[in-house]
Amino acid sequence: TKSTVIITGASSGLGLATAKVLADSGEWHVIMACRDFLKAERAARAVGMPKDSYTVIHCDLSSLNSVKQFVDNVRQSGRPLDVLVCNAAVYLPTAKEPRYTADGFELSVGTNHLGHFLLANMLMEDIQHKENDTNRRVIIVGSITGNTNTIAGNVPPKANLGDLRGLAGGLDGVRSSVMIVGGEFDGAKAYKDSKVCNMLTMQEMHRRFHEKTGVTFASLYPGCIATTGLFREHYQLFRTLFPPFQKYITKGYVSEEEAGKRLAQVVSDPTLNKSGVYWSWNNQSNSFENELSQEASDAEKAKKLWEISEKLVNLS
Ligand code: NDP
Repeated sequence: TKSTVIITGASSGLGLATAKVLADSGEWHVIMACRDFLKAERAARAVGMPKDSYTVIHCDLSSLNSVKQFVDNVRQSGRPLDVLVCNAAVYLPTAKEPRYTADGFELSVGTNHLGHFLLANMLMEDIQHKENDTNRRVIIVGSITGNTNTIAGNVPPKANLGDLRGLAGGLDGVRSSVMIVGGEFDGAKAYKDSKVCNMLTMQEMHRRFHEKTGVTFASLYPGCIATTGLFREHYQLFRTLFPPFQKYITKGYVSEEEAGKRLAQVVSDPTLNKSGVYWSWNNQSNSFENELSQEASDAEKAKKLWEISEKLVNLS
């Protein structure tokens, strides 16, 4: 029988490319967790995913109620869950004003971090209850841009969570700042901060659950996939110049197809089952265990982030 993987944001870019690789392998049933049902269904058909290899289930990560509803629907589908991939993200680099989730959190951190935080916590119950299986994984897509120990991570505005005061206040722009560190809204920074949260969450889950449950927790930077919808809100000039810049100058460019193969490896390759790892790939496309920046590997910050996030999504 096939294993089951949930991929959030599987309607485009990296998520879709990964869904395609796994569906084509014949070994996986892909649950596409998407906010736009029709778009996801069309995307799956357009890339030629076999009809019985996937199910689209609605999930809007910018609404905690929608996340809960999604978990209910997954449970009702009766498929035992093997792997969860937290991949969806929004990036608002040109927004002048903050936008908000249904629950009133700044949209980038609310979607990329808090929505996935609730989803991963709820689904731990479903993943760990499968016995005699060594391929149970929770994967959270990270990014180089949140890692200040890299050149890309040093392009301003840099990620920085500070003492998490804005997050603790609820990121609502009324009682607290919309930025985790406090201060004025900056969409590019909010995205980078959310990616640091993703990487910290993966490590905290590893510390809390790996030994107890045997589940593998991993994050990754698949390379710069300069052509995806992630940049849809960026200036047109940026969108024209960014792909060739990444291809010929930084040489960090990867195609959506190659990036999909990389994430699919983290899902299913038996040799990539070590827990707590942040995976990257070298120029020969070989995977290696990469190092995170100081902030993205700060265990104390990870714990604090966890406790605040639990309160915000009403888990504690
Ligand atoms: P895309 O914009 O192509 O894909 C993002 C996906 O997230 C889309 O399917 C989008 O849905 C979905 N999404 C957005 N908001 C929500 C929401 N509220 N609820 C559910 N789904 C939502 O970008 P990428 O493929 O590039 O991004 C995928 C991941 O890769 C992200 O985590 C990103 O941070 C990461 N990444 C990307 C890099 C790159 O160079 N592109 C580099 C490093 C990491 P819809 O189709 O409906 O818009």
